[in-house]
Amino acid sequence: MSDYAALKGKTAIVTGSNSGIGLGIARSFAAAGLDVVLNSFTDRDEDHALAKEIAAETRTKTRYIKADLSNGDEARALVEQAGACDVLVNNAGIQHVAGIDEFPAAKWDAIIAINLSSAFHTTAAALPMMRKAGWGRVINIASAHGLTASPFKSAYVAAKHGVVGMTKVVALETAEEPITANAICPGYVMTPLVESQIPDTMEKYGMDRETAIREVLLQRQPSKEFATTDQLGGTALFLCTDHAAQITGTTISVDGGWTAL
Ligand code: NAD
Repeated sequence: MSDYAALKGKTAIVTGSNSGIGLGIARSFAAAGLDVVLNSFTDRDEDHALAKEIAAETRTKTRYIKADLSNGDEARALVEQAGACDVLVNNAGIQHVAGIDEFPAAKWDAIIAINLSSAFHTTAAALPMMRKAGWGRVINIASAHGLTASPFKSAYVAAKHGVVGMTKVVALETAEEPITANAICPGYVMTPLVESQIPDTMEKYGMDRETAIREVLLQRQPSKEFATTDQLGGTALFLCTDHAAQITGTTISVDGGWTAL
């Protein structure tokens, strides 16, 4: 049996998965035969079309459910509406860059709600389903910023450290069950979230695009390369296999050596 054969037909919810890392993970899961629930806060035709395209390509029951994860009730409703949840990937996230004395309070609240509290709500709703099914995987997409800090990212760093801490608690509360909980900590991955930081970085440092990417964004990533969404998908998929059944309560860095420095 292939490593992934046992995953065929299991249901995976991937939050914030109409772009970037979440979409990469959703594509990897569907390719392995999981029925994926794609999610974001929009309800555009393109979001449903994307899910239909993946479903057709992979012959899975992949579909799209809208839920604004800044709202705890919507986060719980996403899991209820999915009807099953064998694998939960808490991936949705936003960022804002500003000094702590200038950080807009509304941005702080939104970052904590979407990056951290939504994972609490979805996990609370999903665990009873995993227990009923007798198997489960919780995979939280934290960040190198869940293990280290950077100036001007107070809310993001606080939220991601919170995600890492909550992951350990979920692992301990499920330790004697066939359920694992882990956090993946990416360094820089080229996604819309990172793309949106490039113009400001170029302006702030007076650099061209290539120099801004290499000297500023990838300055802390010793490999000097972005990780890919496909690599993140492969890492998440590995955590779903039997080989990873005893891996729980830990963090896996996919950061080109960032946190080894
Ligand atoms: P992205 O902007 O491509 O993806 C973010 C996703 O979150 C999108 O699908 C968006 O629709 C969704 N989202 C935003 N607000 C939402 C809301 N209120 N409700 C539901 N969904 C919402 O960015 P990404 O880089 O793919 O980020 C995905 C995750 O990876 C985030 O948690 C981010 O912090 C983390 N991360 C990214 C990097 C990186 O370098 N790209 C590094 C470390 C961690």
